Amino acid sequence: MQGAIWRTVAAAIVGIAGAIAQPAAPATATQAVFGNMPDGAPIHIYTLHGSGNLHLQARIMDYGGVVVSLEAPDRTGKMADVVLGFDTLAEYIANPTQYFGATIGRYANRIANARFTLDGVEYKVPKNNGEASLHGGDYGFFRRVWKSLVLPDGGLELTYLSKDGEEGYPGNLTATVTYRLTDANELKIDYAATTDKDTVVNLTNHSYFNLKGAGSGTILDHDLMLNADRYSPVDKNLIPTGQLPAVAGTPFDFRTLTPIGSRIEQSNEQLKIAGGYDHNWVLNKSRNALTLAARVQEPESGRLMEVYTTEPGIQFYTGNFLDGTVKGKGGKVYARRSAFCLETQHFPDSPNHPAFPSTVLKPGQRYQTTTLYRFGLVPPPSRKK
Ligand code: BGC
Repeated sequence: MQGAIWRTVAAAIVGIAGAIAQPAAPATATQAVFGNMPDGAPIHIYTLHGSGNLHLQARIMDYGGVVVSLEAPDRTGKMADVVLGFDTLAEYIANPTQYFGATIGRYANRIANARFTLDGVEYKVPKNNGEASLHGGDYGFFRRVWKSLVLPDGGLELTYLSKDGEEGYPGNLTATVTYRLTDANELKIDYAATTDKDTVVNLTNHSYFNLKGAGSGTILDHDLMLNADRYSPVDKNLIPTGQLPAVAGTPFDFRTLTPIGSRIEQSNEQLKIAGGYDHNWVLNKSRNALTLAARVQEPESGRLMEVYTTEPGIQFYTGNFLDGTVKGKGGKVYARRSAFCLETQHFPDSPNHPAFPSTVLKPGQRYQTTTLYRFGLVPPPSRKK
């Protein structure tokens, strides 16, 4: 009995000490039902409140691990939702191929001819993008219901078991994605996976950003920096050729802040093939370090977003395939190039390019990557007198 009382008192002391050590407004997460799957299963949406001074707020659902909304303030403190998406679950289910905000797996980006060979065995994966397989196939991770757990620190953990043979991939793969809003104004996403057979894994998040706010026109006037000296040119099917040439002297050179739209219409074969930017950049980094990959600034609102990642590559996509036919949140039309994606990743089609960093995961190994989106504000541009 006395032991029980002491345990309660001790727990209370630990609790108080813990509370004092927390930042003033600890990160929190709340759960609500977002909608129901056709079979009636409820889909939950979690609202994460950041503990940083920008008071970021993110809504994430357990269908597809989708970041449904992400609110960040402009220079005047006005919040805007800076990611594209829909108001209802039914719309997410009906529009899978935009991948708005979704967690992409088992293999993000393209696999040429929808096949690869591993340990001498050829695996066929769904052909859902011309001759290629894109973003894990027709029923990739972006269309799956994940198990959810709110963590004591206000983070959200989603777990999905992708069965051996699902969408053609070998091995039972358990994937865990953890989302946190940190006190440094970051949306931090940790990815982990284990397998019981040799397989390939490449996980990313497919958020489409517009730092003026989703549905507020094009992103061509956003300034972008990509911390990359080289990129991956593609063939007509958007598959990397395997070469990794220097960006210097090309419209792919974003080593210093440059407006996204300043060279996008240049007569350049690679821009023509993709209808804009839709390429993988080779990040400058030493292996596996969490380093700055990209910085984007929107001069009017002052919103700034930096992307840090442990991944070796990043797909910069300028929403070339958005065509205004999809109406998103609040009925807003998402026109061509009204958003950009920065998908941190291993290089596309790595399973067919032995010279690229490997995406093979073996039993006993743990796939572990981190990507974070850090928000901030930049001062207004100085005006000439
Ligand atoms: C790809 C694009 C593709 C888009 C789908 C991006 O990750 O790079 O080529 O069209 O996803 O919305």
